[in-house]
Amino acid sequence: MFDIELKNKDVIVRVDFNVPLDSNLQVSDDTRICAAVPTITSLLEKGAKVILLSHLGRPFKDLEDNGNFKPKYSLKNIINTVSENLKRNVVFIDTPLTEDRIKEEIQAVDPHNVILLENTRFYKGEEKGDRELAHKMASLGEFYVNDAFGTAHREHASTATIARYFDKDHKTFGLLMEKEVTNISKVLNDINRPFCAIIGGAKVSDKITLIENLLEKADKIIIGGGMAFTFIKAQGGNIGKSLCEADKLDLANTLIEKAETKGVKLLLPLDAKVTEEFSNDGLYLTKPIGEIPDGWMGLDIGEASISLFEQEILESQTILWNGPMGVFEFANYAQGTFEIANALSKATRRGSYTLVGGGDSVAAISKAGLEDEVSFVSTGGGAMLEMIEGKDLPGLSAILE
Ligand code: AMP
Repeated sequence: MFDIELKNKDVIVRVDFNVPLDSNLQVSDDTRICAAVPTITSLLEKGAKVILLSHLGRPFKDLEDNGNFKPKYSLKNIINTVSENLKRNVVFIDTPLTEDRIKEEIQAVDPHNVILLENTRFYKGEEKGDRELAHKMASLGEFYVNDAFGTAHREHASTATIARYFDKDHKTFGLLMEKEVTNISKVLNDINRPFCAIIGGAKVSDKITLIENLLEKADKIIIGGGMAFTFIKAQGGNIGKSLCEADKLDLANTLIEKAETKGVKLLLPLDAKVTEEFSNDGLYLTKPIGEIPDGWMGLDIGEASISLFEQEILESQTILWNGPMGVFEFANYAQGTFEIANALSKATRRGSYTLVGGGDSVAAISKAGLEDEVSFVSTGGGAMLEMIEGKDLPGLSAILE
């Protein structure tokens, strides 16, 4: 971050305080707020006045009948939690950016304080990356820090356009953003090999670009979860009524062929826990992956798959995990996912680098109670995946240009 004194300087910090609220409009999980504390504290220590910008939900998609924003989208709801995490008072200013008096109100706040502004998505221009709005936001401070990795893949006014109004010496990444980028870069550049990527979750269609880019980087790719069945069916297996994307069978075969050509080992499950109903209650059996009877569906990987995958994980130096191995929300079908989490934790203890993120992977690793046993858990699901897919992240490039 900035290596300069910021005494009496106004610093705008884009954070990701898009936190869940309960029915009493209380923050039910403050992980994201907690994650921004080091950046804010460090700026305060350098003498800055910190002006926080964040979005919360999608207020325009869920308006009151009279066209007003629902109270649950106001950042007023999070003031106390931000204040508790920072262990200091937070000044909330809900004056719209469109009113000039907002500048005077910010100036009236003593230096060394933290100011929280209202939801950036209360402005139509935010999600459109509107220049006029971004300019208004930029005019509130002399410096800009982007610490919202979770929205780095969006070209919004407060995440990307705003940075264009600051020169190189007046904009930078926050500490959380730096940590995310440094960690994700470990699976993109100077990779410590062998590199094993584990991809699970429901649909192949969501992960095509991810798998294609990983074919250029990884030494082996493990495919699990619901998406594995499209590959198995494409290879001629019987998958019963397991999840399958009929229009992606050719693509699955193309990916298998590409992996062969590139010398990437593509590993599919050997067996599955199968059942007749999509619930935790029915009887289940373990069947070879391509021999699932009609009317049955695979909801988790079986023991043979777990052993194979564990062995491959333990023989790797760099491991990326995205997506559960089964319907881990049901206790009977969580074993595959939890065993992968265990294998990652074991590999980490042995000195391998392990990165978890995207989709439900973060929920899965915390459900397994192992989030502190891996090298890094990314907080920015979509942004992490887009970075690994090789896409340009507007929130990053706007700081670098
Ligand atoms: P994703 O968001 O793509 O990571 O997908 C996560 C979802 O995939 C979770 O809600 C899992 O329950 C679901 N899932 C994983 N394996 C299966 C499976 N074999 N059948 C149906 N759903 C699955």
